[in-house]
Amino acid sequence: MADSGKDGAPRLDLAAQNDVFETTPPGEILRWVTDTFGTDAVLTMSFQHEGVVIAHMLRDIAPDTPILFIDTGYHFPETLAYRDELVERFGLPIQNLTSTMPRPEFIAKYGDDLHQRDPDLCCKINKVEPLQLALRGVRAWINGRRRDQAGTRAGMKIAERLKRADGEIVKVNPLANWTAKDTYEYMMRFDIPTHPLFEQGYASIGCAPCTRPILAGEDERAGRWAGSGKTECGLHTFMEPADDDETPAATDATGADKDPS
Ligand code: SF4
Repeated sequence: MADSGKDGAPRLDLAAQNDVFETTPPGEILRWVTDTFGTDAVLTMSFQHEGVVIAHMLRDIAPDTPILFIDTGYHFPETLAYRDELVERFGLPIQNLTSTMPRPEFIAKYGDDLHQRDPDLCCKINKVEPLQLALRGVRAWINGRRRDQAGTRAGMKIAERLKRADGEIVKVNPLANWTAKDTYEYMMRFDIPTHPLFEQGYASIGCAPCTRPILAGEDERAGRWAGSGKTECGLHTFMEPADDDETPAATDATGADKDPS
């Protein structure tokens, strides 16, 4: 599926669009995405603060934009409670994605400790595959990555054209130029509650077995898969840049980046 606008409009010039986006506020970037792709645009989020901010912005811009949450079965209870609280408070159009393998079958086949023995396979079954299915037919994928989250993201474009089995998708990073401080300040300005584990030192929050609080001076994501050598779950590496995408190797498509989910 091409990334053309509605009614077969010409393929988008993302290079020119990115030049504009560099000085465009995130809300206006979101307006462009939803005006261009309508309900063929989705937001993925795991109720980390960046996703929450984008979901909050979309309420006033395009409130019907689907929000995809991957329920791996291993989230912290606090994350699920936070999800439920925000969904109710803001009326978010959430869709909970789960593995196609029913949990009893998963446990019978792999046990309940696959995250320890083979976290890549665990992520593939419980995160990547559900998202791959959900993104079928979607033309624009909004997510909350920031450039300052990792050196490998420093050159990330705000809009990227990626390849997939059924064509292409435009991946949009409206908060690319923001910092964690910007995100926090937005939440305070609009009285949005923070994740209950945030104040306990969890700067990046994923599945419970694979996340710990960070220590003073550690990288924002040091608590993810700590000590395992694993730095990403695959959500942002399973699609490669399209041949004509000028996105440099500094993006997640290198497979060397960390997971913002
Ligand atoms: S983050 Fe951990 S528990 Fe969650 S899907 Fe990946 S390996 Fe499994």
